[in-house]
Amino acid sequence: MDLKQFIAIVPDYPKPGITFKDITPLMNNGEAYKYATDQIVSYAKDKQIDLIVGPEARGFIIGCPVAYSLGIGFAPVRKEGKLPRETVKVSYGLEYGSDVLTIHKDAIQPGQRVLITDDLLATGGTIDATIQLVEQLGGVVAGIAFLVELTYLEGRKKLEGYDIMTLMNY
Ligand code: AMP
Repeated sequence: MDLKQFIAIVPDYPKPGITFKDITPLMNNGEAYKYATDQIVSYAKDKQIDLIVGPEARGFIIGCPVAYSLGIGFAPVRKEGKLPRETVKVSYGLEYGSDVLTIHKDAIQPGQRVLITDDLLATGGTIDATIQLVEQLGGVVAGIAFLVELTYLEGRKKLEGYDIMTLMNY
């Protein structure tokens, strides 16, 4: 299936110079959403994944159906102040701005094999921070899956040494 037909390209959003790749048309189409999910599930199948971890909010949209399909759990990574119990945190930079990401301290057991999911790899800052959170808790990052990669931002360089799959490149 040609998934790119379900990505809406929005120039100058959320600010001038950023070309936003909107994945909501893909989620809106049941066949496309299922196809994309199934692709990530087959990537994960031979990796003995114990847990999916995804950053808010679009990492949830990608990761939760994969977790459901594999019959494993999902742990949310959220902006500071959003998780109600004890967390670990890390600060990070992204294509437009900077922030702090957190995860519940008891979300990952040491040695658990984790698949990280997000909609899009831009500079890699968000996922670099997510990796740090997983590793702080003793998790092993066994794979990282994105729908979209903006290859011209070279986010992969920041994630060197990790196993990455993407379904669409721009
Ligand atoms: P980064 O940390 O730079 O890799 O940015 C990745 C996060 O920001 C992803 O979770 C995306 O949801 C969002 N993002 C960054 N750039 C774009 C873009 N051009 N279009 C859509 N989403 C983006």
